[in-house]
Amino acid sequence: MGGLGSACSLAHRGFKNIHIWESARELGDVGAGINITPNLSTQLSRWGVLHIAKNEAVALDGASVLEGSSDTTLTTVDFSYIAEEFGSPFLVVHRSALQKCLVSGALDSGVVKLHLGHIVEEWDFDSTSFSVAARKKSEEEESVPQWIKSDIILAADGVKSKARAAMMGRTGEKDDVLDTGQAAYRILINRSQVNEDPELLPFFDGSHSYRWIGEKRHIIAYPICSHTVFNLSTAHPDRRFVEADSWTATGSKAEMLETFADFCPRVRKLLNLVPEGDVLEWKLRGHSPLDQWVVGNTALVGDACHPTLPHLAQGAAQAVEDAAVLGVVLSKITSKDQINRALKVYQALRKPRADWAVATAAANGKGLHLGKSQEKDARDAAFRSAHGKGGSNPDKAIDKEVQSELYGLDVALDAEQRFSELFAQVA
Ligand SMILES: Cc1cc2nc3c(=O)[nH]c(=O)nc-3n(C[C@H](O)[C@H](O)[C@H](O)COP(=O)(O)OP(=O)(O)OC[C@H]3O[C@@H](n4cnc5c(N)ncnc54)[C@H](O)[C@@H]3O)c2cc1C
Repeated sequence: MGGLGSACSLAHRGFKNIHIWESARELGDVGAGINITPNLSTQLSRWGVLHIAKNEAVALDGASVLEGSSDTTLTTVDFSYIAEEFGSPFLVVHRSALQKCLVSGALDSGVVKLHLGHIVEEWDFDSTSFSVAARKKSEEEESVPQWIKSDIILAADGVKSKARAAMMGRTGEKDDVLDTGQAAYRILINRSQVNEDPELLPFFDGSHSYRWIGEKRHIIAYPICSHTVFNLSTAHPDRRFVEADSWTATGSKAEMLETFADFCPRVRKLLNLVPEGDVLEWKLRGHSPLDQWVVGNTALVGDACHPTLPHLAQGAAQAVEDAAVLGVVLSKITSKDQINRALKVYQALRKPRADWAVATAAANGKGLHLGKSQEKDARDAAFRSAHGKGGSNPDKAIDKEVQSELYGLDVALDAEQRFSELFAQVA
């Protein structure tokens, strides 16, 4: 998302020679539901690609938080104020729809070349170079890495970023990816599977997001793909899926059902619909805030420098905000010897906001996962008295102040306004 977004943003600002090196052999429908929050839809709209996601998106009309065990609604927020107040819609889509927007914005520009099936192996920040090798189709095949030199490198290689490890290695720091102790199941239920069940159909027909919470766990769910699919995403203690290097694995349906065995019958009915073999489990990883995102003319982008737990729905949004700001700052400079300073301005603009989003998402998970305690009683009382049309809310994803902070700022406009002042300050 950060890589395609950066290509899209730079193409939009008139850059001419942009290359994306991606290890995947193809751009498939990988993943499940993802939120296009207003701060993200603002940027997609500027690049003229939001309509692509809208074709299959669901525009959320509101969100509810429910007690997982009893199905009792703790709070409901009506989102009618969102588009009005923040000027851009709150959509939910399959991740592939967001990918389609960015692919189209990048590739239709005619100035971006996408090199699929290529793994970046090494970095030389002093010469702004990296080595990249085509993925081998068999062990016998030879793949000779080539070194590529460029004016600027934007390393958007995700939460397990090798570029970040190499950058930190230069100053002797250890690149410790944090084990958050949490994992997530991603589940997609097709409308045809519910057999017109009157209890489940409203989940598909509506445009509402549901978050069922319990001790150390929650499930967030909403319809996607033009109301034909109901997407459920969980967070729960990571018990089994701890393979250090794997990203995602086929989870066990029995284990998933056991994890949510004390949740209400309606939720268990939904979980039961998942065909065996279709349960995907992801390990949720994090990273402490980095001291720097920039070395020379190379900058980290997205999860590589601020992996964000999903509890605030900001992973993709913050990556694309990075991309939007990069487009602005790099288009402001007039010579190549100013690239490093422009990237430092990018870091100055983005790091405080992204680090705050990371911390807020983590704190939100803690608050949502409370077990029996006075703190939980106070939280539930606060849920019950929360304003239905936006206001203070214990779920920070639907708290008006947090939303205003996130959705109320167009980071590209902000970068336009603050560039000169910050550029003068960075060495
Ligand atoms: C396959 C996948 C599916 C996801 N599905 C969901 C989802 O359904 N819902 C959700 O909320 N979030 C999902 N996420 C997470 C979310 O998309 C990201 O957190 C967010 O968009 C941040 O984007 P990013 O570009 O920083 O990182 P990522 O989206 O993780 O992208 C990093 C990219 O870098 C590539 N890469 C990594 N190392 C190398 C290398 N050495 N050489 C070349 N390429 C490399 C990876 O293949 C990947 O395409 C998914 C992430 C991935 C990778």
